[in-house]
Amino acid sequence: MTADRRQGSDSPAVRTEAVEALLVERGLVQSAAVDALVERYEQDIGPLRGARVVAEAWTDPAFRARLLEDGMPAIRELGFGDNTDSHVARLVVKENTESVHNLVVCTLCSCYPWAVLGLPPAWYKSPAYRSRAVREPRLLLAELGLDLEPEVELRVWDSSAEVRYMVLPRRPEGTGGLDVEELTARVTRDSMIGVERL
Ligand code: FE
Repeated sequence: MTADRRQGSDSPAVRTEAVEALLVERGLVQSAAVDALVERYEQDIGPLRGARVVAEAWTDPAFRARLLEDGMPAIRELGFGDNTDSHVARLVVKENTESVHNLVVCTLCSCYPWAVLGLPPAWYKSPAYRSRAVREPRLLLAELGLDLEPEVELRVWDSSAEVRYMVLPRRPEGTGGLDVEELTARVTRDSMIGVERL
């Protein structure tokens, strides 16, 4: 990812389209292949893969330990198949606890754990989120509907091209009887970014 702070013809979207057009023109890729790739990230991969990872971590303490130790090798165990890690050099999973809440941002541009969460939401890429997540994260979270208790420590993780972060949210109360599939359905994208509690 490059540092794109500008808009208009220099915006990431416009530049991405330009690169795609060039690749197609040179015969390096087919437009349909690009569309299929985007569709896969939008609908198939994210944020369902991340949700499944979280549900596994909630139900399997040994997996949870491996996940927190090193994200990608643990996630590969789940057998999502191709391209799970092609865009992520390193995935670090940060666990929310009673006393610590984690929040993910990319202050430079929009680095995001695509491999497990799919495409980032538009607000994640906004200059307001990127700056306020660092400058006034508690206020930002409050405005997003998450009032963090004063005694809860808030840790903000700044993503980069080399390291991507994902939050392991706390398991909601009253979900003791649910299986992995049911738990997966309870996990939201926003909870894995850290702007929501389950
Ligand atoms: Fe970035």
